[in-house]
Amino acid sequence: MTVLVTGGAGYIGSHAVLALLEAGYSVLALDNLATSSRESLRRVERLAGRQLTFIEGDIRDRQLLDKLFAEHTIEAVLHFAGLKAVGESVAEPLAYYANNVGGSVTLFQAMADAGVHRLVFSSSATVYGEPESMPLSESAPTARASNPYGQSKLVVEEVLKDLARADARWSIALLRYFNPVGAHPSGEIGEDPQGPPNNLMPYIAQVAVGKREQLTVFGADYATRDGTGVRDYIHVVDLVEGHLRALEVLENCTGAHVWNLGTGRGYSVLEMVAAFEAISGKRVPYTLQARRKGDVAECWADPTKARKELDWQARCGLEEMMADTWRWQSKNPNGY
Ligand code: NAD
Ligand code: UDP
Repeated sequence: MTVLVTGGAGYIGSHAVLALLEAGYSVLALDNLATSSRESLRRVERLAGRQLTFIEGDIRDRQLLDKLFAEHTIEAVLHFAGLKAVGESVAEPLAYYANNVGGSVTLFQAMADAGVHRLVFSSSATVYGEPESMPLSESAPTARASNPYGQSKLVVEEVLKDLARADARWSIALLRYFNPVGAHPSGEIGEDPQGPPNNLMPYIAQVAVGKREQLTVFGADYATRDGTGVRDYIHVVDLVEGHLRALEVLENCTGAHVWNLGTGRGYSVLEMVAAFEAISGKRVPYTLQARRKGDVAECWADPTKARKELDWQARCGLEEMMADTWRWQSKNPNGY
């Protein structure tokens, strides 16, 4: 069975491509390399001992999509392609809506015309907005996001729900990721942000490897255990396993289905720093600074629905997340 993976060269996409190849799928990876490197998929091929087909191109290019669907028997699409820098999305909303919403709609139109109706979409816990209680189950209300990036995820979710209502042939998974971290245990592929990382884990890793001086902790006055923000960090290998399970489950059901992919446990920023230091043996100096605009105090998943319906749950604990992040970062101090 052939799967089209958009954004396949990126952080999560490359891990998903590897898992698909290992599970016996044929993979077509489409990526415009806007925020990633061709090297990630070369390494994936080496790790898997199998070849994939890479197409450098854009999900907004309808002609290219039509050609791909005409030339290959694609049965499902894992759709990771998108831009994800929250601050940049505030400065450049049009670029984010054009890429994340416009690009997604173009992809769905090409799928519809090609008769391909099985889709797994990368959504985010950001669609829950500023939740009132924890943990978050899929029945919690969604809310307008505080930035265009989050809003683009919410809009695409709504587009896909409308699509499933309009045409019963669609089988769609809306996977709401909590905080993906970690790397493949080989240390060969991992998260390779361009410029200063926006996210906590790659920032910590780059401080530890000497690329950045110190971590800025955004907010120490939240009503949490130690005053710093609490999140549900999930190992990327567990996360992509959830995609493979969703792909299988979609084979036998139609409609649009929402699943949280999280562990159900929250850790604070300072707990993350301490855990990383313990595993890596490196010091991670930090300063406590003001809150970052748009951040919530805490956020963690109720992963029950995915456990029941996908027969999936996260296996890796914090130690593996830290060890694998450090292995990747120390083997590849400058990324790919
Ligand atoms: P990433 O930036 O590493 O990967 C995204 C990939 O999409 C990149 O390789 C990029 O070059 C490609 N891309 C972007 N626009 C494209 C376009 N128009 N055409 C073709 N390719 C394009 O990010 P990631 O962390 O791997 O995220 C993958 C998906 O998961 C994204 O949709 C992201 O919004 C979503 N997500 C990520 C997180 C996270 O914390 N990493 C959390 C929730 C949701
Ligand atoms: N954070 C931080 N310093 C950083 C990056 C993040 O203190 O340089 C905090 C952030 O305020 C939040 C947590 O780490 O409490 C996770 O942030 P991240 O950006 O990784 O993910 P988010 O949950 O915002 O999507």
